[in-house]
Amino acid sequence: MSEKIGFQAEINKMLGIVINSLYSEKYIFLRELISNASDACDKLRYLSLTKPDIAKDNGELKIVITPNEKENTLTIADNGIGMNRDDLINHLGTIAKSGTADFVANMKENGSSAELIGQFGVGFYSAFMVAKKVEILTKKAGEEKAWKWVSDGVDGFEIEEAEKPTIGTEIKLYLKDDEKNYVDTIYLRHLIRTYSDHINYPIMLNLGEAGEEKVNSASALWSKNKAEITQEQYKDFYQHISHNFDDPWLTLHFKAEGSIEYTGLLFIPSNPPYDLFQPDHKHGLKLYVNRVFISDKVEELMPNYLRFVKGVIDSSDLPLNISREMLQQNALVAKIRSSTVSRLLKELKKRSENYEDYLKFWQAFGVAFKEGIYEDFTNREEVASLSLFYSTHDADKLTTLDQYVERMKEDQKAIYYITGDDVKVLANNPQLEVFKQKGIEVLLLTDPIDEFWTQTLVNYKGKAIKHISQAENMMFERSGEKAEEGSLQKLTQLMTDMFKNEVGKVVVTEKLTNSPVSLTVENGQMSIHLERLMRNHQQQTAFASTRILEINPYHPLIIKLSEIVQDESQRSKVEEVAKILLDQAKIAEGEPISDPAFYASKISDYILKSF
Ligand code: ADP
Repeated sequence: MSEKIGFQAEINKMLGIVINSLYSEKYIFLRELISNASDACDKLRYLSLTKPDIAKDNGELKIVITPNEKENTLTIADNGIGMNRDDLINHLGTIAKSGTADFVANMKENGSSAELIGQFGVGFYSAFMVAKKVEILTKKAGEEKAWKWVSDGVDGFEIEEAEKPTIGTEIKLYLKDDEKNYVDTIYLRHLIRTYSDHINYPIMLNLGEAGEEKVNSASALWSKNKAEITQEQYKDFYQHISHNFDDPWLTLHFKAEGSIEYTGLLFIPSNPPYDLFQPDHKHGLKLYVNRVFISDKVEELMPNYLRFVKGVIDSSDLPLNISREMLQQNALVAKIRSSTVSRLLKELKKRSENYEDYLKFWQAFGVAFKEGIYEDFTNREEVASLSLFYSTHDADKLTTLDQYVERMKEDQKAIYYITGDDVKVLANNPQLEVFKQKGIEVLLLTDPIDEFWTQTLVNYKGKAIKHISQAENMMFERSGEKAEEGSLQKLTQLMTDMFKNEVGKVVVTEKLTNSPVSLTVENGQMSIHLERLMRNHQQQTAFASTRILEINPYHPLIIKLSEIVQDESQRSKVEEVAKILLDQAKIAEGEPISDPAFYASKISDYILKSF
């Protein structure tokens, strides 16, 4: 009895997007299905390491492509791991990965590009670009029952028990009437050679009476000599392994020799995946032992901050029958990891010499990469030196810490930074005024991670890294009119009383020029920006820093206020202006103000009076 099951709502949308955005590259469906077949063979080969009986009589692992001109069908068959009923329902009818469904739901159908599609691995569904109906016959290794799955790709699929003597999966595409070229053996041969040559298993083209013909070279690309590999082949391999459609930004192919021997073929994509910051983001490295696939879940192979690196590590020094659990504590894996990271960092160093080129990497992955400054204890300084930052030196060009250090003033004590939500807003923060006057550069940091690495990397190449609030002796050198001492005191006292629920104290500062007031925190306390971040993530801010309202005794507004503060009849005016000033200080910090309606109406009044 067959059972009809509807697609998850987002599947239809996804099919629509796939068909719309990849219509000029329909042929990629073949690459995707071959890729899945190859993954299925990898999984079975790994399973048979520990359960040699499971694939008894299965023969050599391979992929067979059978075109049928008469029926106008194309069948892609593998003798890999196969699927049971649950697999079929869970993998081919729902979008399993969390976040993907939302992503698809939010995606605009027409604005999507091939790059976006690749990010959520539409793989299988691309079959519906060329097929009006897809029939899958599959039997999972170690199980008795076989299953048939049929769908027209519109509203769901039917599933029923079926007969299949051998394990593996056959995917039969009933081609649309205008897709006859996919039964043409010359075209198929061309497609397989172009896009799937590197596949580790033989891809056989079934020519009917003429027998099967092996089309690909079926040798692991990474085990070949670099000189024999073209850029095109690297790219195809990258796209196969990453399921991406972009070009790799970096391709790194090497053989490590010495205490442990292994080969690495690593890539950094050009585009960031949409889920780079989601907790279940997959690591992109596959581990092989002597060309036998072991696992793509060995997180120990790559630190988290380099989770966007894709590729293959193949070592003959690891035992073949190693379990995934053993891999986690394996000393060889740890060694591979540390030497691979060094190689990657060295390569990034080279690429960073070309700013424009490096900027592409930085814009795609910089925020994740910076996590390494606090995560990677050994390479902390190296990761920092490869990081780019906005600074007050140049609004358009990012700087490295080394460049910053080179520009430091002779008597400058530290590398200074300020944190906030937005570079442009930060650049105008009143707290920077004295730094500007003294020609001292300040890093403008806007990523949440900046709040954390700045706490762990307290020195860079011998220079302290300090938040500007920790700068000592930062005073303006100046002359000019200043509010009178006694009345200033009276003003600060009044403001302290007025704002006692909002700020810890009100102090006179020598650090401001253009602004009458500014908000900061007590030296050493959590920055206002970090507090805001934590608030946004519903973290309790029980440890809220003590706010300090600084006032500028040279500013005409403060001078005026301190004059009229002596006059009791002007008290309400002084209080009103003081309130507006506090709001202004908050706005400059990116903080919400307590009574926006009051603020807006007062400002309107003052503007009117100025006409
Ligand atoms: P992805 O390959 O990115 O996971 P797909 O939509 O192509 O996305 O495939 C979904 C899942 O279906 C795969 O992860 C795999 O578990 C299963 N699958 C697809 N094709 C095969 C196959 N030929 N053999 C076994 N499992 C398969």
